Amino acid sequence: MSKQTLSFQAEVAQLLNLVTHSLYSNPDIFLRELVSNASDACDKLRFEGLNHPELYEDAPDLDVRVSFDKAAKTITITDNGIGLSQIEAVEHLGTIAKSGTRDFMAKLSGDQKNDAQLIGQFGVGFYSGFIVADKITVESRRAGLPTAEGVRWSSAGTGDFEVETIERKERGTSVILHLKDDASEYLNTWKLKSIISKYSDHISLPILMKKEAWKEGENGQPGEMVTSDEWETVNQAAALWTRAKKDITPEQYDEFYKQISYDSQSPLATTHNRVEGATEYTQLLYIPAKAPMDLFNRDKAAGVKLYVKRVFIMDDAQALLPVYLRFVKGVVDSADLPLNVSRELLQESRAVKAIREGCTKRVLSMIEDLAANEPEKFAAFYAEFGAVLKEGLGEDFANRERLAKLLRFASSTTDTVTVGFADYKARMKEGQDAIYYITADTQAAGKNSPQLEIFRKKGIEVLLMTDRVDEWALNYLHEFDDTPLQSVAKGAVDLGKLQDEDEKKAAEEAQTQFKPVLDKLKETLKDKASDVRATTRLVDSPACLVVQEGDMSTQLARMLKQAGQAAPEVKPILEINAQHPLVKKLEGSEHFDDLAHILFDQALLAEGGLPDDPSAYVKRVNALLV
Ligand code: ADP
Repeated sequence: MSKQTLSFQAEVAQLLNLVTHSLYSNPDIFLRELVSNASDACDKLRFEGLNHPELYEDAPDLDVRVSFDKAAKTITITDNGIGLSQIEAVEHLGTIAKSGTRDFMAKLSGDQKNDAQLIGQFGVGFYSGFIVADKITVESRRAGLPTAEGVRWSSAGTGDFEVETIERKERGTSVILHLKDDASEYLNTWKLKSIISKYSDHISLPILMKKEAWKEGENGQPGEMVTSDEWETVNQAAALWTRAKKDITPEQYDEFYKQISYDSQSPLATTHNRVEGATEYTQLLYIPAKAPMDLFNRDKAAGVKLYVKRVFIMDDAQALLPVYLRFVKGVVDSADLPLNVSRELLQESRAVKAIREGCTKRVLSMIEDLAANEPEKFAAFYAEFGAVLKEGLGEDFANRERLAKLLRFASSTTDTVTVGFADYKARMKEGQDAIYYITADTQAAGKNSPQLEIFRKKGIEVLLMTDRVDEWALNYLHEFDDTPLQSVAKGAVDLGKLQDEDEKKAAEEAQTQFKPVLDKLKETLKDKASDVRATTRLVDSPACLVVQEGDMSTQLARMLKQAGQAAPEVKPILEINAQHPLVKKLEGSEHFDDLAHILFDQALLAEGGLPDDPSAYVKRVNALLV
């Protein structure tokens, strides 16, 4: 291939712009990213080499070498990993390969694009070289290809890049950074070594730099440090998780987390264990402090990397944790899986099943530990991940009870999301035999909902459930610690022993006395309501809507429709308060029809819905107002 000039994909140009404008606050990370790519390239060779040992050519020992040339103002990072073919150089260094990253980029708003933290979430990788370089040259040859099929790629990081064929004896890749004038501080062994030990100590490959030696000055001249031709290893070169816990500092755990998660914040919690027994593996798992933007995408890549006997196998091993724990990051290294394990095999493996159970238990204990001992951290965790944790009720039957204990809600008496089922139970009223809750679009809508009136009057706490997932999740949880859970917006209210005889009698009387009005309402509203009945649950409001036990709530049906999803047509039941003046007015009223529709539409408004025909509603109200 003779020299060609090609343009970057538009997204790369955008990303480059971000890199140079947003990440300058911590320029050191360029080395972390490039060393990490070099190490990945060696991992890939190791993996492909399992079936094709000839790819190692005559250099079986993998390493990464970092050197610099003061006079030329360059830093070179060389690996003898898998290398790049010409096509790969064009594709991988000219486009953003991962469609996830691309979609993510597309979603960022203008402001977010300048947010280094967000950018960090998907890793800028190779392009971070342009933080310190005004030109990057990559020379590479893919393992196994003839030496005449090397490639040189170079770019100034603006609109385009050049590629050409070169002769390259060594397998693997050299990334040569031509430093900007203000980046010459990196032309220094000590500086580069300290960045490597900060960010790349745990990389399991040796990272080599040229040894420095002190050269005596001549004739009384001051001496100087000179680099020799001898290479020395400057990192620990042992994968972090293989080291003993006592030899790892909290900073090293944090740094490793940042490296694998692309998060710039420290994790909220960390757990590191060697599990022995029928299946043997090491787990190093982290709970991040902040949720990623795509937390609710259940198809998103999982965060746990799988290694088999220290060999990297795959990045997003979904089989290692249930989907509802997709926010967990970390590494699992198993001794019991074959090195050539495929994704399909993972799904079926018994060892993987055991690992998955073990990791799930570990993560749950981490969260339980936060709940018991670090309330502030737990609250932070819950605000970020509480909603996904609830998915576990429907997904992980074995741990349902443990999960239920971790859930927290706001309630009619507590505005903060801090009430657990156990707290609720501890303050239940004498004679109360259910845990009451209401699902609503917002906390305010729930708290002010007419359905709560009787509960407020009787001083009974009601849990407010405002997460989209709540109603679905609660389908899987019918009781907590032998106390049934009861929605106050479903079925008839049965306050059981909490209602006295007089109240019960009054309710029954209302039902019979009111029968003609109820029948007439039923007829008038037959297109909107599946039934109309008198209720004791209302105190101040004239009417409210409820659904049949087992039906989807009107709120959820509404949310689903708004989200463009299919929702069953639920015709609610209109319940009316026979004591209310507006309801009393119904009997014999010449405006019966209007009043009936207004009652229904207002009940809908009160729970955050909208009348089917808002203008008809307005007309009816206005007709009565004049
Ligand atoms: P990422 O590593 O997150 O995929 P990068 O922008 O860092 O994204 O790199 C893009 C791609 O370029 C990598 O996925 C890899 O295929 C290739 N690449 C980068 N550095 C190297 C290297 N040292 N050896 C081989 N391939 C590399």
